[in-house]
Amino acid sequence: MQADMFGLNRSPVMVAWGGGVDSTAMIIEMHARGEPIDMVLFADTFSERPWTYETVRTFSAWLEERGIPFQRVFYQAQRFKNFPPYLGLLENCLTNGTLPSIAFGFGSCSLKNKVAPQNKFTENWEPAVTAWRQGLQVVKCIGYDCSPADQKRYAEREGYVEDRYQYRYPLREWGWTRVECEARIAEAGLPPVKKSACFFCTATKPAELHEYEPELLRIIVLMEARAKPRLKTTEGLWRKAVKGVRGGTPRPGDMTSYIRDKGLLPAEEVDYIEANAPTALISWQEAHADTPIEDRPDVRTWLEFFNAHIDSFRKEGVVSLYQDAPYAGGVEPRRPVDRIAA
Ligand code: SF4
Repeated sequence: MQADMFGLNRSPVMVAWGGGVDSTAMIIEMHARGEPIDMVLFADTFSERPWTYETVRTFSAWLEERGIPFQRVFYQAQRFKNFPPYLGLLENCLTNGTLPSIAFGFGSCSLKNKVAPQNKFTENWEPAVTAWRQGLQVVKCIGYDCSPADQKRYAEREGYVEDRYQYRYPLREWGWTRVECEARIAEAGLPPVKKSACFFCTATKPAELHEYEPELLRIIVLMEARAKPRLKTTEGLWRKAVKGVRGGTPRPGDMTSYIRDKGLLPAEEVDYIEANAPTALISWQEAHADTPIEDRPDVRTWLEFFNAHIDSFRKEGVVSLYQDAPYAGGVEPRRPVDRIAA
């Protein structure tokens, strides 16, 4: 009761910030209108596109200057059995030899890595706990705009009711589309914000792959090659090939074929990764299966080793991914928790 006296005495307002255009513009405009924002949450899959991490850096500074609380949340697996510890969706998929669930037509990758960490945070967030005790709801602001693509997403959620949350869609209240959102970000003097998603998401457009650095393209090839033996209902990260009739862009069902066909990576490099990297990763996982968990290197350590050695492949044409690495090259084993702290 005492604590409640010093609480907000209104429903706390939380914004789910995706790191993209819509939710960024929504926060800027809410702040300009003097609307309360008690928390901005960003759920990190540790697999976002590089420019999203740049936006996180600039926009979190913008929020801090205005005294708007910001938290980065994420899903952290707790039990790794005999596998090297992993952090985020990419490492999870590499560990288990699979693709994100969106590539199979499901949405559990988003539920697990985006929705659940935000809900978990809120469960212990003092303003929410106090509000619920007072019989109030937490207002959750979602950045769906009025464009046709978001209209579909909104239609799926329209009328969705929860006891503890009240959902609000400010951009739709204001009648804003992406155009207004982009203009609002520019007006605020912030750098342009690009679409956010995991860099290997099924929703990635073919043209977007042309913007990626080789490091990301190699990991896409690795991810599909690692998952390939177990794929039955889907061809790859794009699920099924598209012929491109009625104005659509033709593309294969897997991103690797596109990367190879368009020469985004040299064909011999793609061949090499497909032939060697998944086996090397599995061998490495097995080699560390009996290492005590506190000493077991994490999957990121292997990825750093992979990138470093594939780089030398370009120069030397030959590289072994079968070494006792990843201790080679001065890379020390780390656990996810160390990495987050860093
Ligand atoms: S961006 Fe795509 S791959 Fe990443 S969590 Fe969302 S749906 Fe899954």
